Formats: sequence, structure tokens, C-alpha cells
Amino acid sequence: MNKILNFHLVDNLEWFDKTISMIKSRYNMVGIDTLIDYYDGNIDLKNACHITIDDGDQTFYQNIYPILKKYQVPASIYVSPKIFKEHINYWFQEVEGYDEKILKQIIATDTNTNLKDFDHYNIFTILKTFRVEKIHQFLELYRKETNTALKPYQNMSIDELIQVDQSGLIAIGVHTMNHPILMNETDESSAFEINSSITELAELLGHPVKCFSYPNGIYNYDFSEREENLLLKNNVKITFSTVAKNFKKSDHIMRIPRIGISNNEKLLFLKIKLFLGSFWDSLKKIKTTGEYKQRLELQRIFNV
Ligand SMILES: [Zn+2]
Repeated sequence: MNKILNFHLVDNLEWFDKTISMIKSRYNMVGIDTLIDYYDGNIDLKNACHITIDDGDQTFYQNIYPILKKYQVPASIYVSPKIFKEHINYWFQEVEGYDEKILKQIIATDTNTNLKDFDHYNIFTILKTFRVEKIHQFLELYRKETNTALKPYQNMSIDELIQVDQSGLIAIGVHTMNHPILMNETDESSAFEINSSITELAELLGHPVKCFSYPNGIYNYDFSEREENLLLKNNVKITFSTVAKNFKKSDHIMRIPRIGISNNEKLLFLKIKLFLGSFWDSLKKIKTTGEYKQRLELQRIFNV
């Protein structure tokens, strides 16, 4: 069975070392060009595994990159050019550690809704109901009201990004500008998120980029054909969703599935997950339905 794995933040180098060593002993590790060849119909793959990492925070350079180099495992990472150029954090990095009570009250006041109608929802699920411009406004209001400063920069530096790009081992792909739920955006802002991120990342790296991963990444909830068409127009060859399945030839090239691996996930659990295949799939479906069902409920509460 062929698998694409998806990591985010990894705060423990030893854990990542053991994880990659375990995966490498069981799979043929492949790079992004091999995957593109596979979907172009030029080659077949058996027991192949590709590693992807989203967001590009500083733990990639500290804990992931050294291990990928040590084992010579190819991978692809998905980043926003905006965070590097403006030296800023993603909105979800800023929210971490905020007082949820205060932030929820700010949202209630700003949207003219009753806090008790949505108080029991997770703050990230609530924020993902809104356009990213609105999320930024809520966070700005929070910082003003609580006298909170922006957090120190938590992502890789431009120099590190360029060094990784030039290693030849890691492909760098696009992950929008502001990490929105693209489905929430207008036609204009969705086009901006996709077109600008592709152009600006290519400028930063000095060459075109060919791969993309959607923030969140479930078709018809987080992105739609509108985004797929924009990506195709920009000559993006391959894009990744977060549907947790093994990959196969019949996959939609703009919605390739990936199996998410959490930070410090127990190796035993990880092994079970890798070998369960389609059974894991149905387990995961139940989990995703939860957040997506809640987002639909929240859309009704906020009338967005
Ligand atoms: Zn992301």
C-alpha cells in the first residue's frame, strides 16, 4: 500500500528520528517528482511513502530537516511566502495561549451574537467559520483589549528556507498567503491567496513551484473546484488534501490523500495506523465529521 504522510510541528528530534527510521525500514521513500511521474502514468509504485510537512515553522529546520538529511529521505514542505517576507506568524500560532473566554466575548460583541450559543465550541473551530480577514480583526481586537503583543516569530528564516530548497532533498510547495479556509473566502480573496502565494514563493526561491497543500484540506468544506481551477491555471502539478487514505492511481490529482501524524504520536499507535489502511480511514471519517458538522452549525449561528 502506498502512503503519503503529513506532519506539522515536531518538537522532539529523537521521536522524529525513531519515526523516520521505522517508516524507512518498511517503505520505499519517494520524492515529489516520483509522485508526479506516477500520476502522469509513467511509472508504477509499490509500498511507496512520501513525507509532507505543512506550515514551515522553526521546528522543521531544528528537528525534521536534520533527520531527513541523516536518512536521505526526500520530502516536500508547504509554506506561505508571506510569513517569511513579513516575518510574521500564522493566525493559528498567534491564537495559541490566548484567553478563550475573552476572545469568544470579543467575537460575540463584534458579530452581535449571544456567547452562550457558541461558548461550548472549540475556539479554533469557531475561528475557522470566518474569512481570514475577519480572523485577523478578532485577534487585533483581542490584542488591543488585553494589551497583548504579537508573539516572537515562530517560523523558519528565509535563509533556512533557501538552504533547504537548495539541498535537492526537499521540494518546497505553496500553502496560501494567510492560511484561510479557502471555501469561506470570496472569489477575489481566494484568487489572491492562491495566485500571490505561488508567484511570491517562486520569487523567493528563484524558480517555479509545482506543488500545493490546502489549509485544513477537505474537499467541499475547505476548498472546492474554484481553487482547483486556479491552481491548474498557475501550472501547479499536484495538490494535497487531508483525507486519510492510501494513495492510488485513480486519485484526483488535485485532491491527493494524506495521512496525518501528530507531534509525538506513539510509535505503536503509528504502526497500527500505517497497517490498518482502509479501516483507519473509516475511523478518521468519524473524527473529521465532528469538526465539519460543528462548523456548519456555527455558520448558522454567525450567519456567514
Ligand atoms: Zn497548514
